[in-house]
Amino acid sequence: MTTEQLSASDPTAIARACELLRAGEVVAFPTETVYGLGANGLDPIAVGKIFEAKGRPNDNPLILHVSSFEQALPLWQASQDQLQHARQLAEAFWPGPLSLVLPASSVVPKEVTAGLNSVAIRAPANPVAQALLMECEFPLAAPSANLSGRPSPTSADHVATTLSGCIAAILDGGITDLGIESTVLDIREFPPSVLRPGSISKKQIEAVTGDVRLATNTSNAPSPGTRHRHYQPQGMRLRLVDAEAIAAKWDEAAAILCFEDTAQAQSTRSKPVISLPRDVTAFGAELYSALYTLEQSGEKLLYVEKVPDTPEWDAIRDRLARAAEN
Ligand code: AMP
Ligand code: MG
Repeated sequence: MTTEQLSASDPTAIARACELLRAGEVVAFPTETVYGLGANGLDPIAVGKIFEAKGRPNDNPLILHVSSFEQALPLWQASQDQLQHARQLAEAFWPGPLSLVLPASSVVPKEVTAGLNSVAIRAPANPVAQALLMECEFPLAAPSANLSGRPSPTSADHVATTLSGCIAAILDGGITDLGIESTVLDIREFPPSVLRPGSISKKQIEAVTGDVRLATNTSNAPSPGTRHRHYQPQGMRLRLVDAEAIAAKWDEAAAILCFEDTAQAQSTRSKPVISLPRDVTAFGAELYSALYTLEQSGEKLLYVEKVPDTPEWDAIRDRLARAAEN
């Protein structure tokens, strides 16, 4: 299959992407978090193509993307209390990186929910994603647009790195803003529970709804995707180490990803090193891109400096822990 390259700045690109999606094809598109691999979320055959292209385990459900809260309503079969809670959160965080989990209605194919009786839905804030959803009029099922197990893509080039030739098109809308996926929040019960930490922090949600729980990453985690290994640069083992170990390994034959101040305290290095800011948002925006760059180096080992053990780093710690072998 030849993958069409569509530029979001081309006025015909949205219509073409939508035409492909309406025909049951899969198309990668930018969201404010990472690139998504979209298909018509009401068409089981189209949704099946997402799993096939990504090599995604079929126990890992997909998030449905919608253009408005109203478009989400027929996809849920929820009580008045649950819907009221959803509306409160959507008013606070949509469009944005918060996926809300409620019981699924019968219009949602079981391929989307991976057989669960709930479905996660969000309205993305990226203008290209919004234009696409408005044009399509159906919800888009969209996981991250990468081969399963690899880092999530924050540029059209990253998408092409792992999926070129396997999907109908890539809609290029530049580099994504946040770089860390949405927070998945189960609101079937009160207090709600964070199934996957993401770009919206537990603290931000608490400010709207009060108490919030954090589900732990165990083998029977309620969010199936958090059981799988993910975010791995190809051909490299990734080890998480502290700043002292980074200093001790500075002259080793390995790639390094660390904080800027850690790198600044050292001499220049002949082996690949990328340093990132201590600001969580800036770090998150650059993390996956750094992994894609470092995997090009041909090094077999990547040392990554551990991030702080504080709540604001929850989402990034989660991603690094799943990418690491230790
Ligand atoms: P991705 O789209 O690759 O970012 O992965 C989507 C994440 O959302 C995975 O961790 C899924 O397990 C999680 N997810 C999607 N739908 C549900 C659901 N109904 N219940 C729990 N987790 C979900
Ligand atoms: Mg993913």
